[in-house]
Amino acid sequence: MQPYGVNQLRKMFLEFFESKEHLVMKSFSLVPHNDKSLLLINSGMAPLKPYFTGQEIPPKKRVTTCQKCIRTGDIENVGKTARHGTFFEMLGNFSFGDYFKTEAIAWSWEFLTEVVGLDSDRLYPSVYEGDDEAFEIWNKKMNISADRIFKFGKEDNFWEHGSGPCGPCSEIYYDRGEKYGCGKPDCTVGCECDRYMEIWNNVFTQFDNDGKGHYEELEQKNIDTGMGLERLASVVQDVDSIFDVDTIKELRTHVSTLAGVPYGEGNQTDVSIRVITDHVRSVTFMISDGIMPSNEGRGYVLRRLLRRACRHGRLLNIKEYFLAELAQTVIKGSRDGYPELEEKRDFILKVIAKEEEQFNKTIDQGLGILSDMIARMKQKQESTLSGDDAFKLYDTYGFPIDLTKEILEEKEMHIDEEGFAAAMEVQRKTARAARGVTNYMGADVTVYESIDPAITSSFVGYENLSYTSAITVITSETEIVEALAEGEKGTVIVEETPFYAASGGQAADTGIIQTSDGDFFVEDTLKLKGGKIGHTGKVVKGFIQTGTNANLFVNKEKRALSARNHSATHLLQKALRTVLGNHVEQAGSSVNEDRLRFDFTHFSALSQEELSKVEDIVNDHIAASLVVDIQNMPIEEAKKTGAQALFGEKYGDIVRVVNMGDFSVEFCGGTHVKNTSEIMAFKIISESGVAAGVRRIEALTSKGLIKYYNHLEERLYEASRVLKTTPDALAEKLSHLTAENKSLHAEIEGLKSQLAKDAIGDVMDQVQDIKGTSLLTVDVKGVDMAGLRDLGDQLKEKLGDGVVVLASADEDKVNLMVTATESAIKKGAHAGNLIKAIAGLVGGGGGGRPNMAQAGGKNPAGIKEALIKAVEVLDGQLS
Ligand code: ATP
Ligand code: MG
Repeated sequence: MQPYGVNQLRKMFLEFFESKEHLVMKSFSLVPHNDKSLLLINSGMAPLKPYFTGQEIPPKKRVTTCQKCIRTGDIENVGKTARHGTFFEMLGNFSFGDYFKTEAIAWSWEFLTEVVGLDSDRLYPSVYEGDDEAFEIWNKKMNISADRIFKFGKEDNFWEHGSGPCGPCSEIYYDRGEKYGCGKPDCTVGCECDRYMEIWNNVFTQFDNDGKGHYEELEQKNIDTGMGLERLASVVQDVDSIFDVDTIKELRTHVSTLAGVPYGEGNQTDVSIRVITDHVRSVTFMISDGIMPSNEGRGYVLRRLLRRACRHGRLLNIKEYFLAELAQTVIKGSRDGYPELEEKRDFILKVIAKEEEQFNKTIDQGLGILSDMIARMKQKQESTLSGDDAFKLYDTYGFPIDLTKEILEEKEMHIDEEGFAAAMEVQRKTARAARGVTNYMGADVTVYESIDPAITSSFVGYENLSYTSAITVITSETEIVEALAEGEKGTVIVEETPFYAASGGQAADTGIIQTSDGDFFVEDTLKLKGGKIGHTGKVVKGFIQTGTNANLFVNKEKRALSARNHSATHLLQKALRTVLGNHVEQAGSSVNEDRLRFDFTHFSALSQEELSKVEDIVNDHIAASLVVDIQNMPIEEAKKTGAQALFGEKYGDIVRVVNMGDFSVEFCGGTHVKNTSEIMAFKIISESGVAAGVRRIEALTSKGLIKYYNHLEERLYEASRVLKTTPDALAEKLSHLTAENKSLHAEIEGLKSQLAKDAIGDVMDQVQDIKGTSLLTVDVKGVDMAGLRDLGDQLKEKLGDGVVVLASADEDKVNLMVTATESAIKKGAHAGNLIKAIAGLVGGGGGGRPNMAQAGGKNPAGIKEALIKAVEVLDGQLS
């Protein structure tokens, strides 16, 4: 057998199944499409689900792929076993109601033994214990002796996921030899150690599970298989683990060179090297599919993997930033199979570098918080960090839990592991609940799923705003119906429609569908699975029924306004790239008849100058009256024109390219103006951040912009009217008014304090002598706390030396204030304690410093008594 390389094996597999009449499809994005049950694609089958259920018709009944996969569930195994990565490539062959077990088994054997040349004496199949059919095929047709075929139970060899299609599996294991074994006497196929390695899993989907444990034979039986490309390579190249196969080894070596730590010298350091090697692969591929680091969902998985890699870098004592450099090696090793890596290279590196930098800051911040926590524990003489605190560090601050543990251990402290696990579980449950539904398709089951998959609709709305076509399906909100009557809501499907279904960020068309029987008002237009377009809305007159011809009219005004905003978005994207640089990628967009919103990747807020430049560029290209030219062309040809494609988006072989005078060239399926002059004018109304590294611009054009200015103008005139001036003089008038207001304020303050003084008249004859210290207690009327303080200061000055106690009833509230001079304090007076002792009498509480204290209360009737008590309290304080 030849030690084929990873890239060679991928090719051999796809070509082998192509020779068995399979259609070779490119790997799908790691981001699942229309599937809420999955965060990330984790098998070759996952993106093909609609073909398995029959909801969509596959391009061919036999398909083969090499699919990029992420399995975070395997994260704890990574670096420790020979066979797990969070990222790997899965080779697969699929049959949608075509061939079944016999062919699938025979071909897998043929590929492994004849094409690749693996020693058949080292291969062992396994079957589901209830699947006699598969057993017979292996035994009788493939001539494998019965003692070499292993039977496993449901747990290992029956594939199912909630309700939906499911079925038995047959796996193929390879015996890598005794040296990889665990040495236990019962070590054999199925043992968790690395000797017998599962390389291929054939799933025979032949049942439908109704979710309550009833299995029914499927009419259309499917084949779904998966073989880890890296695992196959490790066997073929006869190396220790997937980290030793040609392409990955190069990356692994790069890690160990960077760290200055040789591979194979220590168990701990080897694990770290392998973890970094794996994670940097995951991270690079995820970003190339448009995933950005964040605190939830896929973004969080990405962040976690990236941080884990950083963390292991620290363990290896890598001092510099290192991940972006490693990503370059990933790109080099895999760009042949995945050209998007090279295309997005600069962007990938930038995102990684930025996140690594941020994580380093996080670590420093986390160290600070942890040391505060430790100080508090020491104070309380505790040695266990609470689960909640540990989780807070981990979850809120992104601080790695093993780092927390390690630091605590150095201080002979530890974590409440159970409490931590409990906090984690609570969060997991919330996350799971937030993700919601999971049936086989990971989506809510809707009435649309029962529509015949052979029915499709085509969009003819690029050229037409009205059209005549036959109604093929009508549904109410819950079921397929023949007709809908006046007032009823539902969905209408026709053969050809001019209505644009919401997609690519552009809002859906609305309008009206008329038949000779009645009118249906279209409120929304949806892209349904399997190439159908649904018009949802309500019958407003008469009734409508299937089979009849309908006249479809799109709301022209709304379409035209949306088109202007959509075309402006293209100009905006190009302008942003011109002003900010080529790292700007579309991260989302939304256009409708009122406004446009564009999200893009950029790492800081835009300055006023940059915003003005962007606006100017867009407006210049509107004024230039550029012709908008739209063409369909093969994707390869389109790429050559330099057309801007959407990040992480999967395109078909033929793409639609929208060109605006060669200034902006983009892949786009939306509707556009014929000439940029139709956009009239463009104005940015806001710029903000929506996530790390993602900015958002909201802008207006044409009618929306005029409406905005009209509104602004109206408000300006209204404000001028109120201030009895003209818009031009408004600013000056306002600054006069503010200045005047300020001086009036000062005057009021002065008057208030004068009034307070007048209110108490001359009180100096009320001064009492308490053990040689002067005390003045006064009840003043209607003075607020600030006024009391002011008054207190004045009286204290007059008194020269002593204690002042002031009380004032202000409606049904009481304000109390005590102030004491330095010399009185020296003799024992304490304003804070004094007020504490008397505040209760006015129904309140308070306290303060020795020289100054205040309190509030709710009982004006107690003032007199409080002031008498003050004498007694001060007497007690003075020595
Ligand atoms: P294991 O028990 O070894 O984790 P599995 O039962 O989870 O494997 P399947 O879900 O059947 O594997 O996936 C199909 C194939 O994909 C496996 O036979 C294997 O070759 C490959 N594979 C699965 N998980 C990984 C992984 N984490 N890293 C690399 N290859 C994998
Ligand atoms: Mg597994």
